[in-house]
Amino acid sequence: MQRTLFRRGALLAQKAAVEVSLLPMSAPIQPRLDRAMSSVTIPPPECMLRPLEVPFRYLFGPGPSNVPPRVLAAGGRGIIGHLHPEMYEIMNDIKKGIQYAFQTQNNMTIAMSGSGHAAMECAVFNTVEPGESVLVAVNGIWGERVAEIAERMGANVHIMVKAPGGVFSNGEIEKALAKHKPVLFFLTHGESSAGLAHPVDGIGDLCRKHNTLFLVDTVASLGASPIFMDQQNIDILYTGSQKALNAPPGTAPISFNERACQKMFNRKTKPVSYLFDMAHLSNYWGNDGQPARLYHHTGPVCFGPVSGLLCLSHQYLSWRHHREVAGYLWKGLEDMGLKLFIQNKDLRLPSVTTIAIPEGYNWREMLQYIMKHHNMEMTGGLGPSTGMVSVRGMLKF
Ligand code: PMP
Repeated sequence: MQRTLFRRGALLAQKAAVEVSLLPMSAPIQPRLDRAMSSVTIPPPECMLRPLEVPFRYLFGPGPSNVPPRVLAAGGRGIIGHLHPEMYEIMNDIKKGIQYAFQTQNNMTIAMSGSGHAAMECAVFNTVEPGESVLVAVNGIWGERVAEIAERMGANVHIMVKAPGGVFSNGEIEKALAKHKPVLFFLTHGESSAGLAHPVDGIGDLCRKHNTLFLVDTVASLGASPIFMDQQNIDILYTGSQKALNAPPGTAPISFNERACQKMFNRKTKPVSYLFDMAHLSNYWGNDGQPARLYHHTGPVCFGPVSGLLCLSHQYLSWRHHREVAGYLWKGLEDMGLKLFIQNKDLRLPSVTTIAIPEGYNWREMLQYIMKHHNMEMTGGLGPSTGMVSVRGMLKF
């Protein structure tokens, strides 16, 4: 009897395509709904009654980038539940794709719900406790952001500052590590506001020597510029889905190694964010060895990011391709008489090219002209590089 009732209920819900929760019945609902409808005084807005229109643009800013048809198609797949076994399988695949892209075997690897900032906050909130010392390398906007995030959660923040696009030597970094004894040191690998690919070799070893976790931002560089999380002793690495991964924005891959896990799972205080608490997220992603994966939040049930990772895997990390295409662009720009902001070719970010604003030109007017006449998005600098550069990302596929 009960089973028949369940089956009929399920069929009914399917037909009506409504959400069904098993709750006790209350007073007759129809009259209440009629009364509620007659009290609606704000009509639906005109714009919500029109079909959505999205113009085509060449996205040559530092991100988001145009998305290949295959990734777009993946985004149009049906939705399944965020706790369905099939979803867990897809999450397991996403994890493997991230491990490949990061060149890591870290078990504690997930894709955050949210943009690159989500991963940035997740990394800081989980590994730092209020009052602890944090060292941040600032040579563009992203160091500034991380310093502010750490300051907001009560860390004792120290910054090393260079002009946009400046490079910190390992000697300078070691001196600051010895002086400030931070629990965490932050560096941006691909500083998109300046177009710099900062060298990373040797810094992880220095951090180990000084008992510091090494956190690296690869939002603008992952997939375009070589990075080896395990070999380079990077303790925490994150990126975003909307840049060289060629997927829509909204998910942010992040990975923590054993040292980072030791620190973040042995803390005295809870992280300030519930949503970004790795104790919960690691369970939801099946990383904590528990038999059950429990509800923490509704994870990103969208297949764009996984498809971006698939593309990346098919191209076997297309660093060479990026470098070649970027080299072609750099030469063309220089042949036109333009100056590139990062002079040393070896330090240029292949995914984001920065052009020094030619004297006597208004960068805003130039960008507006390019958009109006060529349907191309390019951007100006950001934070400390505003007014110094115009930024051009790259169509990769
Ligand atoms: N880090 C870098 C290097 C970036 O280029 C960006 C985005 N431009 C971010 C972090 C922040 O990412 P999001 O906008 O996805 O939050």
